[in-house]
Amino acid sequence: MVTIDCHIHLGLMPSQVPEWWLKEQFQGWAGSIDAEAIIAGLDDAGIEVGLVQGGDIRRTTWDPRHPDERNVLTPNDFTASEIAKYPDRLYGVIGFDPLRDIRWAVDEIERCVEELDFRLLKLIPTYHHYAADDPRLDPLYEKCLELDLPVMIHTGWTRTINAPMEYQRPVQLDRIGREFRDLVVIVAHLGHPWVDEGIAVVAKHPNFYCEFAGWSAYGPELVYESLSKLKMYGAHRKVLYGSDNSDTKALYEDANRIAVERDGEPVLDDEEMALLLGGTAARLCRIPA
Ligand SMILES: [Zn+2]
Repeated sequence: MVTIDCHIHLGLMPSQVPEWWLKEQFQGWAGSIDAEAIIAGLDDAGIEVGLVQGGDIRRTTWDPRHPDERNVLTPNDFTASEIAKYPDRLYGVIGFDPLRDIRWAVDEIERCVEELDFRLLKLIPTYHHYAADDPRLDPLYEKCLELDLPVMIHTGWTRTINAPMEYQRPVQLDRIGREFRDLVVIVAHLGHPWVDEGIAVVAKHPNFYCEFAGWSAYGPELVYESLSKLKMYGAHRKVLYGSDNSDTKALYEDANRIAVERDGEPVLDDEEMALLLGGTAARLCRIPA
């Protein structure tokens, strides 16, 4: 079965990603990420395929100490030109600021799917200062349904100081699940630190999934506990592998090792691990398995 990392960022420094923001967001990590760097990272991690996202947070992201450096923008066309260098290994994820112009955003989804063959929409409510269930976003969700396009929604905290915490809670996805029953939603980061709330929405809504991108910072113990809780609800087969350019699959192997020590058996069996590492993402994003 194919292995897929569903959460990889792309951007050149400093033209698309100013240095102050990269330091605030990722602390020790700094530097451009292009297609070549992504492929090197995938090869190191032993993962075959990556879903790659740019983004636009110019409207909302700045630092008063760097008033002229607000150009946090990696356009979809740049993503398309980079992934085109590795057509069998990289697939595009739509990244934009929907509140700059909702009607443009709806058209941009259609353009990215039909002309650029992108496979996923990424929304980052806290970075753009809206709640995921803000009715202004409904036309986007309707367009995703029409195009059979899954949407990944950032939940949980971020180091970006100007991102309001009130828009980070997984419970804000519940109305989307109730009103757009067929929409495939991937709850990014499982809402950390509101993990139980994340588990609840993923377990409740049949077309909700989740990923733990960036959780290597918190360690395998929390992954083990969260997978165990998802399993308690019968939702442990709804987890995708996303790295946020930092995790490796060792995080999940270590979680399984902890499970064997504590419970006498792994929390994910071989088939479930294969689904997590790519099988489910392949099905949702129409990537050859
Ligand atoms: Zn990310």
